[in-house]
Amino acid sequence: MRDDTRQWIEADRAHCWHPFTRQAEWCERGHEPLVLVRGEGVWLWDSEGRRYFDGNSSIWTNIHGHAHPHIGTAIRAQLERVAHTSFLGFTHPGAAALAGRLCACFPNNTLERVFFSDDGSTAIEVALKMAVQYRLQTAEPQRDGFIAFENGYHGDTLGAASLMGVGRFFARFRGLGYPVQHVASMDELRALPNEKLAAVAGVVIEPLIQGVNEMRPWPAGMLADLRAWCDAQGIHLILDEVMTGFGRTGSMFACQREEVIPDFLCLAKGLTGGYLPLAATLTTAAIYQAFLGAAEHAFYYGHSFTAHPLGCAAALASLEVFQQEQVLDKLPAKIEHLRQGLAALQARHPVIHQIRQCGFIAGVELRQPSGEKFPPAARLGEAVCLAARAHGLLTRPILDTVVLLPPLCATPGELDHALAALDAALGRAAGNFPKSQA
Ligand SMILES: *Cc1c(COP(=O)(O)O)cnc(C)c1O
Repeated sequence: MRDDTRQWIEADRAHCWHPFTRQAEWCERGHEPLVLVRGEGVWLWDSEGRRYFDGNSSIWTNIHGHAHPHIGTAIRAQLERVAHTSFLGFTHPGAAALAGRLCACFPNNTLERVFFSDDGSTAIEVALKMAVQYRLQTAEPQRDGFIAFENGYHGDTLGAASLMGVGRFFARFRGLGYPVQHVASMDELRALPNEKLAAVAGVVIEPLIQGVNEMRPWPAGMLADLRAWCDAQGIHLILDEVMTGFGRTGSMFACQREEVIPDFLCLAKGLTGGYLPLAATLTTAAIYQAFLGAAEHAFYYGHSFTAHPLGCAAALASLEVFQQEQVLDKLPAKIEHLRQGLAALQARHPVIHQIRQCGFIAGVELRQPSGEKFPPAARLGEAVCLAARAHGLLTRPILDTVVLLPPLCATPGELDHALAALDAALGRAAGNFPKSQA
């Protein structure tokens, strides 16, 4: 190991605290975290000069690859003009242009207003607060709660986290945050009694596929059914497209696949191509109207870096790349290539229980050939991802589901590199299992 690598790791061990991480293990002497120092296209390099395919798109954010010249140039040009100015009391060209571009993705101004913030969690916070305040200002103050789906994930700030259907993350904080009713399906939703529905402002869902729930797609047509149900009930539909937005599912937004227009649309991760933290909550003219008029009807909410100019420049450039490189037109063939590659893997490895894919989002669930799950303590998903590293693929598991969520720019050849690495890793990790289990 190089001296500077060792110094960076020691400095990290001394003072950093990582997200969703068992710090005691992280800081163990035997654990040598990768220090990532450079990226280009789908590739990342560590401080030892080793190259990896970014199979998790840098935690689901990257769209057009790293160091894309068009996005880099746009950020640098903005930086030379000014890095940051306040969106409270002022506006700037990037935000004005970007809001228009985002609304233009939907027909006839159906989504007319854009409220900017910083992250997926804050995009959700904005939607929740707007939805509740809207009811206060339209004579339905009793509607102050939400419906969310079991095993859903909507972020980690308290309001967003109170929607959380993932028990292992949020159970200890239950009772804080918004009143939330959890359902598992449309059938359970339809079975809710009227007195419960009367207290609901909105339904929140990850459209087409739940991410943190081990990449689990919803049944086809479910989103359109949910839209119809919300309309019939007078309940707002809040779509969390933080993961699915910007081409991930094969169209620009997941909701477009079922021709659904939500009342609130939450965007973050891929908005800037994954280069900078920026989020947007889009909503309708009908909701916006309720915030006009009396002074106390304004939306008193914002962050220091709302509509950050560098983020807006990156986001506009990313949308331009979608056009220039015809990203969406090229996707179907690549999605099919990924599908066939994963099917070939499944045919070779009995340890693959199920492959779940929606566009350029894939989960490879590992189980014992009997269909039983592996004991959680075996941490097979982690072992496979660690083994894949040695073959030049970086990704993360969710429990025993290995995630493959490549940047949209990945070519068939690059996808083959990632698939070959996973193939080798599965051979190695599964081979290490005691015969009684594997
Ligand atoms: C990542 C994610 C969030 C949270 O976004 P952050 O930027 O991490 O706050 C919310 N919803 C979904 C579906 C996500 O994938």
